[in-house]
Amino acid sequence: MKFECPHCHEKTFSPLQKALCGSYRGMGKPCPKCGKRATNGMTGIYFQSATSVIMIVAIVAIYLKATEKVQSSIIIACIIAGYFVLNFLFNMFFGKLVEPIRLMK
Ligand SMILES: [Zn+2]
Repeated sequence: MKFECPHCHEKTFSPLQKALCGSYRGMGKPCPKCGKRATNGMTGIYFQSATSVIMIVAIVAIYLKATEKVQSSIIIACIIAGYFVLNFLFNMFFGKLVEPIRLMK
């Protein structure tokens, strides 16, 4: 399973390489074939905004209901870790690779 480069249209990015390209706002990673940079497209940004809203709501809810301080901070740490893992996996398997916004003319 490989993803298409937005420049040369060859399937050069593995899921892991695609995830490491980062978000649309970042610098991206160069294509192994043509050397031009690619990042994950807007779907990644939408997914990230949606999951960060859920994460903040969950953290606030846990914080307000917390009776055991140590236990609740462990749960909050797990939610934050889960948020990063989820977004990484989303970039690995979903969305398209696009040209980085910083390099667009
Ligand atoms: Zn390429």
